[in-house]
Amino acid sequence: MALHTSSSNTAVRSTIALLAGLAAAGLTACGGGSSPPTQAPTPIPTPTPQPTEWSVSGSLVEYGTGRPVSGAQLTVDPPVTVALDAGGSFKISSAAAPTLLHVHVEAPGYVPRETYVQGATGARTNVALDIVRNAAPFSLDFYRQLVRNSFESSALEPLARLTQSPNIYLRTEDQNGKAIEPEVLESVTQSIRMAVSDWSSGTLSVAAFEKGSATRPRTPGWIVVNILRDRNSSVCGRAYVGVPDGQIQLWDDRCACGSKKIGGSLVAHEVGHAMGFWHVSDKKAIMAPVGDNCPTGILTDEEKYHATVAYHRSPGNIDRDIDPDTMAPLSTRDGPLVAN
Ligand SMILES: [Zn+2]
Repeated sequence: MALHTSSSNTAVRSTIALLAGLAAAGLTACGGGSSPPTQAPTPIPTPTPQPTEWSVSGSLVEYGTGRPVSGAQLTVDPPVTVALDAGGSFKISSAAAPTLLHVHVEAPGYVPRETYVQGATGARTNVALDIVRNAAPFSLDFYRQLVRNSFESSALEPLARLTQSPNIYLRTEDQNGKAIEPEVLESVTQSIRMAVSDWSSGTLSVAAFEKGSATRPRTPGWIVVNILRDRNSSVCGRAYVGVPDGQIQLWDDRCACGSKKIGGSLVAHEVGHAMGFWHVSDKKAIMAPVGDNCPTGILTDEEKYHATVAYHRSPGNIDRDIDPDTMAPLSTRDGPLVAN
């Protein structure tokens, strides 16, 4: 800093001292007198923030058993650092800004899977990534029938499972306003409760259960159940598949089973549709298009197993095992692994 001296010493000195003090403090002061031009202080460069590495780690395991999967390949997009050891432990890391990662997993003997993991600042551990072994008890053919409607259509449907416990409204009168028999209402109520839990392998259950004589329109979060009477009906029941505003129609005494005017397996079948499932070719299955309405409505082991896989995947998952980017990205251990 260049300084100028003036005639009156003391004032000058104190001014010099003042200016020196001010300069030291990086402030500019405007004196009355003609003070020498001051040089702008050199700006102290602000340090550019160093990108901090973030990572997501966890284990690649076999769906259903939790056994580590070896010999797998893990591809991540956008490209980041990926480490995967023989035991299935993986670590995805990057110094770039955390982002949603598309993860593609392949392993011999397993159904390839595509899913999403959210990169986040810091280190996230214990993220479970499971893939389905393409062998019994899993059958890709049966899964495609039950979940993707491959038995009755060539277009494979996306997974349409429910995401929250449904409320049920059961109308107590038929389409002509005639009351439904109390024992029919009671057995249908029990069958619905059991089927909602069975088809979701216990992850969902009936929330509110209301009954009334009034009609009720389809409402999100509800499954409206109407019992109709028509001796000439060509069907025993009908339901929308896997929609949030569900509706089931059951024909009273049309496909009776002895004294039971609406059999348990008929109710379980229509609830199966409402929970997101389609017809299968196995004639013994609840989801057989034409079935014996007498049984109480117990799912076959095959139906139970594949329904559990479906309720472990994200709605919108498409063939063979591709999660939608709208899914809630995998996070630290997504609920208990299903052990069968
Ligand atoms: Zn059906």
